[in-house]
Amino acid sequence: MGLFSKKDVCPVCGRKIKGEVHVKIRDNVSVCQNCSAMINMDAAMIPNQTVEDIKEHLKYREKNLEKFIRFESTQEAKAGTTILYVDEPAKLWYCTRNKKEKNPPIFMYGELSGVQYLEDGQPIENEEKTGLLGSLFSDKAESKAIHSMKLRIELSNPYVKTVDIEMIAPNNEVKTGTITYKSNRRALEKVREILSGIQANQQGNGLYGANTSVTDEPAEDADGSAADE
Ligand SMILES: [Zn+2]
Repeated sequence: MGLFSKKDVCPVCGRKIKGEVHVKIRDNVSVCQNCSAMINMDAAMIPNQTVEDIKEHLKYREKNLEKFIRFESTQEAKAGTTILYVDEPAKLWYCTRNKKEKNPPIFMYGELSGVQYLEDGQPIENEEKTGLLGSLFSDKAESKAIHSMKLRIELSNPYVKTVDIEMIAPNNEVKTGTITYKSNRRALEKVREILSGIQANQQGNGLYGANTSVTDEPAEDADGSAADE
């Protein structure tokens, strides 16, 4: 019948896949480059998605784009290469490592389920009780090399379960007590403070919740796409 076997055609959009980079979903099904560029979910989830799941996800991504277009940042904070943006009236927020990202996943306040500060993978206790200022500025504090300092943000979103804001590049280290350590720490604490404010203010689903309209225009591009996984 057709010129191509079923394997050569993207099951999501019907476009021919010509030996291009593509993404494999459940049952070893290949999704074309265009479609996979629009996917934005935790990489570990992708191999479990069915064709229907992906179609639903791409509709979700179109709604996300609508939210992004209407997003008006009223509060922001930068930690390392990551920027947190908050739209307080709409009760929406997102993090990105690229200011020009065209369709970053947007989250409702209610989707934020936890924030933890980790050093070398170990949670550091809330220091409000022990005195954050004391620990940050004491010269007596013992100095040790650490290889990871990050905020782990946990979400109840269907596609993004965690967002990590890591301050130390791979194979680098930072000594506790140094200026670099302290400025990294302050930047993360600022982000954590804003996220704590979001958690304290979670009622409601945001102005632009489930009822936004969907355009027919596909997203041109999506940074952090699955294609380069
Ligand atoms: Zn496709």
